[in-house]
Amino acid sequence: MNLTRDEARARADLLSVDSYHVSLDLTRGETVFGTTTVVRFAATTGASTFIDAVTDAVHRVTLNGVELDPATVSDGVRIELANLAEQNELTVVADGRYMNTGEGLHRFVDPVDDEVYLYSQFEVPDSRRMFAVFEQPDLKARFRFTVTAPAHWAVVSNSPTPEPVPADAITGTTSSTGGTVARATWDFEPTPVMSSYVTALVAGPYQRITSELTSADGRTIPLGVFARTSLMQYVDAEDIFAITRAGFAFYEAQFGTPYPFAKYDQLFVPEFNAGAMENAGAVTFTETYVFRSKVAQATVERRAITVLHELAHMWFGDLVTMRWWNDLWLNESFAEFMSTLAAAEATEYTTAWTTFSSLEKSWAYRQDQLPTTHPIVAPINDLEDVQVNFDGITYAKGASVLKQLVAWVGQEQFMAGVREYFGKHAWSNTELTDLLTELETASGRDLSAWGQAWLETAGVNTLAPAIESDGGEVMTSFAVVQTAPADHPTLRPHRTAIGFYDVDDAGRLVRNHRVELDVAGERTEVPELVGLERPDLILVNDDDLAYAKVRLDENSLATAKRHLKNFEQSLPRTLVWNSTWDATRDGESPARDYVDLVLANIAAETDSTVVLVLLRQLMQTLYQYVAEDHRGETIERTADALLRLARQAEAGSDHQLQFVKSFAALARNDEQLDAVTALLDGGETLPGLTIDTDLRWDLLVALVAGGRRGAADIDAEYERDATATGARMAAMARAAVPTPEAKAEAWDAVVERAEFPNAVQQAVIAGFKRAHDESLLTPFTDKYFAAIEQVWATRTHEISEQIVAGLYPNRPISADAVAATDAFLDQLGDRTPALRRLVREGRDDVVRALAARERDTAVVATP
Ligand SMILES: [Zn+2]
Repeated sequence: MNLTRDEARARADLLSVDSYHVSLDLTRGETVFGTTTVVRFAATTGASTFIDAVTDAVHRVTLNGVELDPATVSDGVRIELANLAEQNELTVVADGRYMNTGEGLHRFVDPVDDEVYLYSQFEVPDSRRMFAVFEQPDLKARFRFTVTAPAHWAVVSNSPTPEPVPADAITGTTSSTGGTVARATWDFEPTPVMSSYVTALVAGPYQRITSELTSADGRTIPLGVFARTSLMQYVDAEDIFAITRAGFAFYEAQFGTPYPFAKYDQLFVPEFNAGAMENAGAVTFTETYVFRSKVAQATVERRAITVLHELAHMWFGDLVTMRWWNDLWLNESFAEFMSTLAAAEATEYTTAWTTFSSLEKSWAYRQDQLPTTHPIVAPINDLEDVQVNFDGITYAKGASVLKQLVAWVGQEQFMAGVREYFGKHAWSNTELTDLLTELETASGRDLSAWGQAWLETAGVNTLAPAIESDGGEVMTSFAVVQTAPADHPTLRPHRTAIGFYDVDDAGRLVRNHRVELDVAGERTEVPELVGLERPDLILVNDDDLAYAKVRLDENSLATAKRHLKNFEQSLPRTLVWNSTWDATRDGESPARDYVDLVLANIAAETDSTVVLVLLRQLMQTLYQYVAEDHRGETIERTADALLRLARQAEAGSDHQLQFVKSFAALARNDEQLDAVTALLDGGETLPGLTIDTDLRWDLLVALVAGGRRGAADIDAEYERDATATGARMAAMARAAVPTPEAKAEAWDAVVERAEFPNAVQQAVIAGFKRAHDESLLTPFTDKYFAAIEQVWATRTHEISEQIVAGLYPNRPISADAVAATDAFLDQLGDRTPALRRLVREGRDDVVRALAARERDTAVVATP
């Protein structure tokens, strides 16, 4: 199933692909679909190569009119092609298999109405699961899809949906009710040239809401939003269209190239692994972005950013595409950077850079401090390398470094370079240097040293101020000191800013002075600050231009702790939050100090995403970083505090909802479980808080994990909510039952019996990990190491990654898990580097936690 970069290069040297005509029959039952591919391509005469086709059965292979023996040329993954002509026509007639892992052509049955919903997900190498294809991004071609499906379905692909033509009715098995199904055929226009990984097919009785806009070149672009019939009532299409329109206008102006495709459909599809996928003109999204219950505003904002991220890919990724997956990071980082910029400058989400700082940068810093971190530009030798590289370096560090690059060359110059790039490379493939060349020309800055330091080395630097004063308030020296970790000793050039903040008469922390400068090497003097009076708080990396950890001087830290909630702006406050979080993770400051800081300030936090991230970090601190002897009581007092905060929060506020959910997740003693019960049963009502469908599940799972509710209650709740989400939540709840039997059952179903589709498996893993009494999970450490190599060898990438990362034995935190990991890694050797990498990342979390616990243990309680 692998493909190496060398194989891809060799194949690209031999071939140039003209077109594919893919005919699919989606009326053949629950397991397989018919797939016929006709490929026209040029080749070096006499050459041999292969086409990718992951098939259930191959019925016929015809190359230039000659029938080949399928059993000889196909191994179910590749079809060998020998003695090619200058111009070739290949026909492959095969059966493809529906997937339930979110990879390839995924099939889902809605429990509400028994309707079948399909969608394709092809990145990285899964278009070959739907049709025969030379699957690599630089072999672009035109794709024509002809699809036969039940007549009542909607069928969506990259080209606008044509009028279907009736086909013969068959006695079908496409719905679980059986019976005779009227069929129709949709014959789509060929697409413009594109890579196979951005082609798409979404089919089923999806419902549609339409709109349109006018593109920069005057074309009418039809817009569509799609969802399953049973979810459509919850789709707020107007909000999605509004963000989409803002994005179109912003990108067309910034990029200087009109939207490249004929229409823009956005489809919410079931059991989707990622947030979304940038199929050209047919973007798919996870259904968690359809809000059937109230969600945190952070999630609404995240959806907006995701809409803008995918839209940016229509230019960067789909119109101009990386030659090979080693530039995947640039694809993702560009979309991530541009979506935040578009949100901040062209939508209501004007504080999007605060969100970016809180969410993206904490992801990037975490990933970049793992022992498995890697340079942004990493060698990608094969498909396995690509799949594990959808990580915090590719998305979050890359985007952070692009932000730094924009500060370095200037935003106007950056965009001018980007416009040139699109103008020159539309519809083709590129490499990093193609973009850097344009940025150098536009900015006049030489980026070779910059690129070397930032893109070709790993690790994160720390910036801290070094201040001297004459004994009074006046500073006699000011420098920024840069350090690097021993494993990654590179010091880098940073464009950064220093902010001076003072507490004003109204008690607010207000910026009174700012300098912007280049920092390089170990120590950068800042003469323009010498002679000034020392302010209450000094922030290096003000405005968050740099990608670096930040430390505060002692004075400033003291101010920050007293006045964190008093920052006038959310971005500097978030930078201080980030700094205290790093110091906690790094074992520099005690975990319980962080707990106290969060509890004392979170109610005043204005940014929903920051609240969400702080609550997540609070959970991690409680479970992993607080000293073992204090953990139980710290969790209990944190749960009490969160319930108090929920009761005090403004009626119906975002804070109220987030505090209630976090409280429920932690609730463990009798009084707390009584409070959860009261919320669920209506014994206590919080003003403005609706106990809606999803919140009911959260509260029920909390009661199940607390031993208060059991199987019958779960079944009853599923009766009330017999939907796909209800089924997932019920599965999570069953795995959260605090008995050895329930944990063993969840484990066996996931690991041994491979029972679940992707989304249900994910829920079961989450439920399994819910355990107030962590000794329930201890027996699974050995089972984990006994199982995972086999899991990795036999399950798809997505499914095995869920298992390997999700079930890693990090509860309870223990040195035994580290020892077991080391023994496993010793015997694994370098057989499967991608598996090795995931396991090492799990190990590092535990090692970090052990160090943080030691730091927290060392705290002597002050009376
Ligand atoms: Zn993306």
